[in-house]
Amino acid sequence: MRFRSPLAILLCLLFFASVVRPQPQLEEHLRSISWRAYQDQAVNLMQEYLRIDTSNPPGNELAAAEFFHKLFDQAGIPNSIYVSAPGRGNIYAVLKGDGTLKPLVLLNHMDVVRADPQNWKVPPFSGAIVNGEIYGRGALDMKDEGLLQAMVMLVAAREHLPLKRDIIFLATADEEVGDTGSAWIIQNHPELVKGAEFLITEGGSNLITPGQGPTYGIGVGEKAPFWIRLVATGRGGHGSIPIPDSAPNRLASAMCRVVNWQTPIRLLPQVEQYFRAVAHLEKEPRASQFRNVRKALKNPAFLRWVTENPDLNYMLRDTVSLTVLKGSQQTNVIPDTASCDLDVRLLPGTDPQDFLAQLREVVADPRIEIQPISRYRIPNSSPADSTLFRVIEQVIHETRPGAQVLPRLNSGYTESQMYRELGIKCYGFNPIELTPELDDTEHAANERVPVEEIRRGVKVFYEVVARGANQ
Ligand SMILES: [Zn+2]
Repeated sequence: MRFRSPLAILLCLLFFASVVRPQPQLEEHLRSISWRAYQDQAVNLMQEYLRIDTSNPPGNELAAAEFFHKLFDQAGIPNSIYVSAPGRGNIYAVLKGDGTLKPLVLLNHMDVVRADPQNWKVPPFSGAIVNGEIYGRGALDMKDEGLLQAMVMLVAAREHLPLKRDIIFLATADEEVGDTGSAWIIQNHPELVKGAEFLITEGGSNLITPGQGPTYGIGVGEKAPFWIRLVATGRGGHGSIPIPDSAPNRLASAMCRVVNWQTPIRLLPQVEQYFRAVAHLEKEPRASQFRNVRKALKNPAFLRWVTENPDLNYMLRDTVSLTVLKGSQQTNVIPDTASCDLDVRLLPGTDPQDFLAQLREVVADPRIEIQPISRYRIPNSSPADSTLFRVIEQVIHETRPGAQVLPRLNSGYTESQMYRELGIKCYGFNPIELTPELDDTEHAANERVPVEEIRRGVKVFYEVVARGANQ
């Protein structure tokens, strides 16, 4: 390559600077940290954090916000609590960068789902350690990640991490029930996250499967719930005299058409990347088909196979699950109304109005009313080849040789959706690795996280943030 002008040289330098690569000064910084004391602190604070009961409802996240407030004050990190409703606290803290790059947000929610102590081995708000595992409601969703994010702030401040981006810590109320904490912050204090380029929050998950290396799933997008009710009306009567076009009869026919409907296949770039990343786990010819899934989807046999697998099918199309059914209360009464609910999940990029128009054609009965029944949010996603995604991938490969890193399209909703609407690239990432057995304790009894994962996690998360905030 021949450089023609100082401008060309500058542009080339900027280009190379933007490629993920180790930065000698930063690498020196990372090597110089002695982690043991921070790891001990992380475990102690994790226990303390789990002892704060933020069951939602009612939430009472203010107590958790005060816990972080104290930690940040002691470390000299500027922070403020925002009360979005009585007892509902949110906390914001910031470490300033030199302003050459846009901010990186660390987002977590402080509320947890409720826990019935009867089914627990130890009380759910004890933070007790049993056999090397820390027990507590929220240990996986998501007080683990919230605490690791706070630790990253504390270590960065103490160790004087050089920063090109601001690092913003934002812990919110009410994710589990109404998302009102994040919604309130975005509505009332958009300046807190304005102009941020990247955000890391829940929505990633890393599984250890026996016989294979760990698989790290990085959340890059979510499908959006678009719940719909079908309501059929007609003449009611006595069950002994059948009415061929009764409300339940017409609804049943429409439901049959809906459940047999093969919604169109649409391959998102992140999903294509996912198939490529897991191809090596398959045998031929499937491995080759996964490597070129766009072509393989044109093969009817492959299409049938892939869409019969529920864990792959949902990534490839808008889906419809028939859930609630309502008709008569009595066996001998033909009701004048019958209804059913559909749990519809749309892919990023689907227009809900287009979907409704297609559904109307499938229902093919103008006397059946089609009513959306949920607040609809446009599904969105972030690219799986951004600087931050690559940094996460690089840190995982360095700290866990042999690990697989996969972009994940989550079937369920996360708050990333709201922040992507502000133009922020959002990723679900958590360094904690879990066996399927531990993973199943999320939202269930005996939720717990291994002590060693908290210790390992704080260092891995710090490396991701330190590198991510400098390129
Ligand atoms: Zn959560």
